[in-house]
Amino acid sequence: MTTRPLKDHGAPAPHLRTLLRGGGVVAFDGSRHVHLKRGDVVFCGGRIEYAGPQWVERADAPVHETIDTTGKLVVPGLVNTHLHVTDTPFTRGWLDDYASSAQAGAASNVTALYRLLPAVRAAALAEDQLAAAECAFSELLLSGSTTVVELGYDEEMGDRGDMATPRAVGDIAGRLGLRCYLAPRYRSRYWKLGPDGAPAYFSYEGDGLPRMRACVELLGEIHGTHQGRVRGMLAPGQVDTCEPALLRATREAADKTGYLIQLHAGQSPSEFRRIRQQHGCTTLEYLDRLGLLGRDLILGHSMFFSESGDVDECNSVELQRLRDSGTHLCHLPWVKARQGTVMRSFAKYRRHGIQVCLGTDTYPFDMFNEMRMAAAMCRVADGSPQAVTAAEIFHAATVGGAQALQRDDLGRLAAGCQADIVLVDVNRPHAVPLRDAIQHLVLSASAADVDSVFVAGRRVVDRRELVYGNLGDAVARLAEAGERVEARVRVE
Ligand SMILES: [Zn+2]
Repeated sequence: MTTRPLKDHGAPAPHLRTLLRGGGVVAFDGSRHVHLKRGDVVFCGGRIEYAGPQWVERADAPVHETIDTTGKLVVPGLVNTHLHVTDTPFTRGWLDDYASSAQAGAASNVTALYRLLPAVRAAALAEDQLAAAECAFSELLLSGSTTVVELGYDEEMGDRGDMATPRAVGDIAGRLGLRCYLAPRYRSRYWKLGPDGAPAYFSYEGDGLPRMRACVELLGEIHGTHQGRVRGMLAPGQVDTCEPALLRATREAADKTGYLIQLHAGQSPSEFRRIRQQHGCTTLEYLDRLGLLGRDLILGHSMFFSESGDVDECNSVELQRLRDSGTHLCHLPWVKARQGTVMRSFAKYRRHGIQVCLGTDTYPFDMFNEMRMAAAMCRVADGSPQAVTAAEIFHAATVGGAQALQRDDLGRLAAGCQADIVLVDVNRPHAVPLRDAIQHLVLSASAADVDSVFVAGRRVVDRRELVYGNLGDAVARLAEAGERVEARVRVE
């Protein structure tokens, strides 16, 4: 595998040294996050030089700015490895009271996924999608996500999959100061209601291969722009909407270019049954046969790799292949919990030695909510508060995500890492007394506690305000876009 060179590193971060001092720090000791009740973090030129107990200033390393972090907890930026910003805000209020894809085949599910979802997506034009992206990226930064993976939409959107839209989405993320992996999707077929009123699949031109080529070309243009913060990722849609040839072509493209891959898989029992029916094997065996498993692959959702969804019902060979290949699973607990399904379980995958990271998928784009859901859902699924610790969940939301992105310089506060840093207000009623900071972050803290955010050493959120965007304007634009989209929706 060759690694695609970054397009443009841009101007280096200014070599001004900043010291964060006065409050607690969640530093990384090389294997885990450690809470220091008082600690210092020093960064310069976009990278962390020091994170630990009191730092001693040296003549050859003058401090240019000291930020008082009294009453704050200094934590690593959260790594959110799966989300869709351009359409899901418009689906809010349409789908949520219908059943999930786990019950595919039930009448209510047909209404939500096959009738309402395509109708809402088709009504969102490029201008609306960009308004949604601006608002969602703002929400992400304001809630402490510093790295995100945006999985864009295909031709079912109102702009018919025009490549100008994902390009503009990447520019919005870059301008606001986020670190964004842009993953425009391609697939062989999409679904909606057929002429007879039953769910039906419709093929794209060339079973998705021309679209895939256009996506790879776009990645070549954007990879490494915005000072290296905007990068590309290959995103074949879902395991059941891609032909084997498209998935093989994806593996070849990844090996040739070094781009990572993300694929939706393990979303529902019906998907599991469909793969078994069509290919005569389980979903994991199918992915293994195609040569797709690997440390450069992230599988979004990963809840149903057996029909029941219980990880212990997967056969030992497929679990071993999943582990030994280094494939990453992206857990998206809230979107599924609100539809009544749960991963069974986060802890079981981890016990099998399998890598798990976290993402928000849809709304709210809030990793604090997602961490809390991941902890609660795992404990509910396994019936014990000891099933998973808060530290394991926080690790998945930081280091786990960084590993999925093959970035050992993200998701941790340690010398040499990117200065992606979040200051969390702990001078709050639900935070005191602060005995265990990591339990607080996972089980009590909320997005509203995020005070300031730095990405690559640049302050992008300052005391709850965006530095490079205007939240009020973004919210107003999205509200207007929502009115336009709703007026255009035609439910067949
Ligand atoms: Zn998704």
